[in-house]
Amino acid sequence: MKIYFSLFFFAFLACNPGGSVKKVAHKDSSKMALLPIGNVDSQRMVIIAEELRDFYGMSIRILPPGGYFKQAKLENTNRYSASSILSLLKPVKPADCDRILGITDVDIFTSKEVKGVVYPHWGIFGLGTMPGRECIVSDFRLRKFGKKTNEFMVLVALHEVGHNLGLPHCDKHPHCLMNDAKGTAKTLFQEKKWLCGSCRKKLDR
Ligand SMILES: [Zn+2]
Ligand SMILES: [Zn+2]
Repeated sequence: MKIYFSLFFFAFLACNPGGSVKKVAHKDSSKMALLPIGNVDSQRMVIIAEELRDFYGMSIRILPPGGYFKQAKLENTNRYSASSILSLLKPVKPADCDRILGITDVDIFTSKEVKGVVYPHWGIFGLGTMPGRECIVSDFRLRKFGKKTNEFMVLVALHEVGHNLGLPHCDKHPHCLMNDAKGTAKTLFQEKKWLCGSCRKKLDR
């Protein structure tokens, strides 16, 4: 009886996007390194670390702050190629960590096709290899949201780590954090710290 109750309770937690309990328990024994790149608030690092640990169940190690990756910088701008940063993060990942998440304050971009037109420098919130070991998030486009910035940074970090864990984009539920934000915060306002049933199934496989 006890087991049934626990199972039911767990199912309730996992399927309750609008409820007060948003955290999802997931058994992931991996270890993730968090690297502040540039001028990143240390409190923000701690918040993201705690949320990743609570959501995915992985252990987290915050690394000492690192400088910007100059090789990833687009000439004559203050913009950085997110995919170049991902490549440059590879050798920075400590040997005892399975993955690395960079958190930065500079504008990051990737190449994106929208309605048949390729934009080589499309501004983004974050990028992650899928499946993979490196991801990056930036507060550059989220700072304007004031008190909501940390909340949105957490959603983007959970999303990019989700890609690392093998989750593709999802359009099954507006609250699912694997929705593609497409560079606008509109999607983030809809999302919760929650994965839909379909994404959870992929994660638990
Ligand atoms: Zn994504
Ligand atoms: Zn989903």
